[in-house]
Amino acid sequence: QTATPGGDTIFGKIVRKEIPCDFVHEDDQCVAFKDLSPQAPVHFLVIPKKPIVQLSTAEDSDEQLLGHLLIVAKKVAKEMGLADDGYRLTINNGRNGGQSVYHLHVHVMGGRQMDWPPG
Ligand code: 5GP
Repeated sequence: QTATPGGDTIFGKIVRKEIPCDFVHEDDQCVAFKDLSPQAPVHFLVIPKKPIVQLSTAEDSDEQLLGHLLIVAKKVAKEMGLADDGYRLTINNGRNGGQSVYHLHVHVMGGRQMDWPPG
């Protein structure tokens, strides 16, 4: 983590509004925005403004924040019309988890049948 508000990743720039982005939610703790490369008809990301690098480096004191991300995820999913048919949340953690941006984010995907297990 860095001292820069929002951190130094591409998502830090999104938090600081330094690059354009299709926001679907913002509050004092987090933002949600559409994924640049959607893997489903609806695909958005929920990220904390605090630059937590990945889930495995979150601290016990982040408990309320982590819960908040899920509450926002389900509220925005409903606003996007996903509530009836269902949807998937994913957190990729670290290299083997497929994480490519090292600023914690929750993927929310829906609008099609999701496969299980994922690849
Ligand atoms: P990860 O692989 O780290 O779990 O997911 C990172 C996600 O961020 C990917 O789905 C990728 O498409 C998305 N992404 C990467 N850069 C940008 C960007 O600049 N803007 C937006 N909206 N999404 C991005």
